[in-house]
Amino acid sequence: MKAIVYDAPRNFSYRDTDEPRIKPDEALIRVHACGLCGTDLHVHEGEFGPRFPLIPGHEFTGELVEIGSNVSGFKPGQRVVANSNLACGSCFYCLRGDFLLCENLSCYGINHNGGFAEYVKIKADRLFVINRLSPREAVMVEPTACALHGTEVLDAKPGSDVLLFGAGPTGQVLAQLVRLNGAARLVVAAPPGPKLDLAARLGADEVVPMDREDPEVHRRRLQALSPKGFDYVIEATGAPAVCQEALRFVRRRGTLLVYGVYPENASVRFNPFDLFRGEISIKGSFAQIDSFPRAIAYLESGKVKVDEIVTQEIPLPEYQQALDIAWARKGVKTALVPES
Ligand SMILES: [Zn+2]
Ligand SMILES: [Zn+2]
Repeated sequence: MKAIVYDAPRNFSYRDTDEPRIKPDEALIRVHACGLCGTDLHVHEGEFGPRFPLIPGHEFTGELVEIGSNVSGFKPGQRVVANSNLACGSCFYCLRGDFLLCENLSCYGINHNGGFAEYVKIKADRLFVINRLSPREAVMVEPTACALHGTEVLDAKPGSDVLLFGAGPTGQVLAQLVRLNGAARLVVAAPPGPKLDLAARLGADEVVPMDREDPEVHRRRLQALSPKGFDYVIEATGAPAVCQEALRFVRRRGTLLVYGVYPENASVRFNPFDLFRGEISIKGSFAQIDSFPRAIAYLESGKVKVDEIVTQEIPLPEYQQALDIAWARKGVKTALVPES
């Protein structure tokens, strides 16, 4: 089969490779589409501990073509998505039931071969059947599951004032979920462009363009919108400078949710007296491990809309072009489509 194969960081080719052979507890998927996300850009650089040679891609959807002898409940031809995260089941955290915190957490597309290929094999207990979602919607199931987990961690009180920094693909979903789960008003702040325009259509009550040159402009607008700050501020850009900035908009007894993917050596400064006096909370939200069924339910119900988020579908051999689009921050999200 054809696949994108990395032999080392930044060193990949589109080439023939052996079709995966499934074990009794696995299934083989013919890939219809696989989303490219920020994680893949980190994996490209060799971050997050990838195992080479590696076929990346963790946001795949396709149809079942072969099912292992120990697997029941699935049949060939069913369209599926897959929860790409795998917990070990036996570490300190797994034994406490905190599977997302697993010390040996592994992921299809990082530690095991993923979906930038014609076929991908996966443990059958990671599979979920989809009925109504198109392939371009289905590649958004995994990001929606992550945003759903973020919404759960946020745990917003009904009727809250919420500010979200960032309008990337998961930010777009997070905005909709937060509006469905507690926000009386949701303000989205992000650089001007197609992402912020989409946020205005999909989830935000108000949008505020962020000016990188002169941050005073958006600070003044946000202060005017909510002079006492916001009950919840979500930082979903992954930029340490924005995380630092975000804290100033948290009102007393408010919460900052750290949701973006940051460089591992990043740091921000905060004033401990302000946290103490204002009873401010800071929470982190990382990926997801048990949110797929509810993410699929939201998407299949039509209450969360993702059809417009995938703005480019690119043939798999043109992977380099997809990377270039992501680095240039064009459009919102790209899905790679195998040729067969
Ligand atoms: Zn992703
Ligand atoms: Zn574990």
